Amino acid sequence: MIQKKVQDALNNQLNEEMFSSYNYLAMAAYFESNDLSGFASWFKAQSTEEYAHAMKIFEYIHQVGGRVSLKEIKPPKTNWTSNLEVFKDMYSSERKVSKSIDSIVELSNKEKDYATNNFMQWFVSEQVEEEATAQKLLKRMEMVGNNAAGLLMMDRELGMRAAQQ
Ligand code: MG
Repeated sequence: MIQKKVQDALNNQLNEEMFSSYNYLAMAAYFESNDLSGFASWFKAQSTEEYAHAMKIFEYIHQVGGRVSLKEIKPPKTNWTSNLEVFKDMYSSERKVSKSIDSIVELSNKEKDYATNNFMQWFVSEQVEEEATAQKLLKRMEMVGNNAAGLLMMDRELGMRAAQQ
């Protein structure tokens, strides 16, 4: 049976992942409305991934005899002044998610909950990837700026990657 403190932290993380899914969906909508459909499909794929993260936590809480409590999802930002700003936001939100995951790892150590500690290791590795991807795309976006040819090339590439997933 999972300890209440750990269960609360996992329920909060479930909510963070749902927010993250919503956040990426808002970004997808922004690109969709700017006719950058490759960007939009990449962000939609990210949104689906975040939903899957939330579900992973959902399943785990039940597996260890806990109880899921779903909370209100805060509304994401819905407008950006530039494409670059979206990528800056993506990078900073992934860093925030990493910190929140680290805090659950710390808590599980403190509470000697080795099952949760082990479960969370998957998320630790996932965040290394997410941060690296976000940082890479942010750097590329800084290079591209508002150059139309660069934007269209990136749009095509991102669209292809999303279709492969
Ligand atoms: Mg996630």
